[in-house]
Amino acid sequence: MTSARSVVAATMGRRRELGLLTLWALVGAVPTLVSGQAVAHALDDGFLAGKTGSGLAWLGVLAATVPLGAWGARRTYLGVARLVEPLRDDLVRSVVEGALVRSTGPDAVTNTAAVARLTQHVELVRDTVAGLLLLVLSFVAAMIAALVGVLSLAPLVLPLIAVPLLVSFGAFAASLREVARQQRRVLLADERLAELASITVGPGLRDIVACGAEDEMADALDARINEQVAAGKAMARVAAVRIVIVSVGARLPVLLVLVAARWLLDRGVSEGALLGALTYLIQGLGPAVASVVGGIGAPLAQLLVTVDRLDEDPGGGQADPQPPTRIAVPEEASVVLRGVTFRYRTAAEAVVSQLDLDIAPGDHLAVVGPSGAGKSTLAALLVGLLEPQAGTIRHGGRPVASVAATHRVLIPQQAYVFRGTLDENLRYLRPEASAAELARATAAVGLDELVDRLGGTDAELEPGRLSAGERQLITLARAHLSTARLIVLDEATCHLDPTAEARVEGAFAARGGTLVVVAHRISSAQRARRILLMDGGDPLLGTHEELIRESPVYRDLVGHWLDHDREPMTFRAPTGL
Ligand code: ADP
Repeated sequence: MTSARSVVAATMGRRRELGLLTLWALVGAVPTLVSGQAVAHALDDGFLAGKTGSGLAWLGVLAATVPLGAWGARRTYLGVARLVEPLRDDLVRSVVEGALVRSTGPDAVTNTAAVARLTQHVELVRDTVAGLLLLVLSFVAAMIAALVGVLSLAPLVLPLIAVPLLVSFGAFAASLREVARQQRRVLLADERLAELASITVGPGLRDIVACGAEDEMADALDARINEQVAAGKAMARVAAVRIVIVSVGARLPVLLVLVAARWLLDRGVSEGALLGALTYLIQGLGPAVASVVGGIGAPLAQLLVTVDRLDEDPGGGQADPQPPTRIAVPEEASVVLRGVTFRYRTAAEAVVSQLDLDIAPGDHLAVVGPSGAGKSTLAALLVGLLEPQAGTIRHGGRPVASVAATHRVLIPQQAYVFRGTLDENLRYLRPEASAAELARATAAVGLDELVDRLGGTDAELEPGRLSAGERQLITLARAHLSTARLIVLDEATCHLDPTAEARVEGAFAARGGTLVVVAHRISSAQRARRILLMDGGDPLLGTHEELIRESPVYRDLVGHWLDHDREPMTFRAPTGL
């Protein structure tokens, strides 16, 4: 496949068109060419000679060249468009070939986001090439016009211009690589920050919270902001150097001519010629130097970055917003709580008080208790979503906050399904999962029927049209597919019927890792290896049989469950206990 870089190089190498364009740009610079001469004649042959009419006539000549210049500029723009439009077509062909190969190959993917991104990149390349061409052409034309003008008026002025110009261009050429590098750094830093910010404050926010990844995301954002600040500072230093270069090339010649005015007049340069030369410097040369030195860095860097991307990423593109973290699966999945105390407000009663709890790797723990007993609070504490005021929570021996968020997943009762394809929803915590792994997860939790009904995992989801149970199944499959070693289901199956719930819990138990289920059915509690009963006092830990034997609250709870015919239910705290 032709690389984007070579397509751009081929366009820039079209000598004939470029030659023609330079001619049109020169026509556009005719007013500049005439300006100094007209001013010189207007002064020497007109106003200074007492012939106001003649002076005005010379200025009229200058005014008459303006339409010619406008016509030249128009032709230049049209010529640039003619040169650059085919560039877009060639680039699109080049990159779409790549996209087609991918989407028809054995690992075919439909990636509309990638196509949109490519189109955007191609447009950017076209615009920046056009902008750069216009910049360089108008610079060349203005320089030629100004230098020819000065030469025709007062050749003695030329050395006063040439030396600073050469110094300025030398410095500019030497700094160009650095300018492009810094511009590129700023561009990339901007993009990286925007990308992360859009994930953080966009539709992924809820998942970030659900994964307990706020601190991690805040740190990542902080790092990207610092990166952008550093890039901005470095760019500012480059800009300061650029101002010096512009001053040397554009302002120093004017200063030198003014300083040498007496010397020039003594050597036969007329007042008019002096003013005319200054006109060339101020109106022609100065703006040309300033625009090319000051204006070439950003589009050049943009071009380099975008062309590189087209070459690196022909038709594939990066995946869309990634989940916050992707790191290896930890070996240890134990959870250890020591002296954990948590209250929502400083003055409020502790919801969890001085709790010690050991959950071994691979354990299956059910948390039960009346409504308001603190089950959800504990669930959030376990995955690090809430931070205790006292005590420690460790995963595999490490403080929970330091464990990657994708290793501790909490699925709350309110299933979060976002707009996008089913595939994107399922892979949210693990985009790199293979098709077989994804299929295993959907089969395990019993999602296959819904997948078939929707017409496959590429189906676009409309979350509002899914039932609460279907949404729960999707988030459960997402958690099952993840690499998390601790899965906490906080009534995450409450909208499923008992059979579906049993299947899901069985799937998670078989999946490996540590499972904590905030149970809302007796069957769910009975499936667990151990049960933690929270009833507002000291929590009790034991098997179903032990708790039936020892805890009146648990017996009451089981009574409620049975009374409610295995329906999902909420409890009132038993009275009189
Ligand atoms: P459960 O899951 O067992 O129903 P919760 O953990 O949701 O219990 O709630 C435990 C206690 O904490 C309740 O009294 C509840 O009102 C209180 N609580 C829960 N969330 C908050 C919150 N965000 N702010 C203040 N109090 C809360």
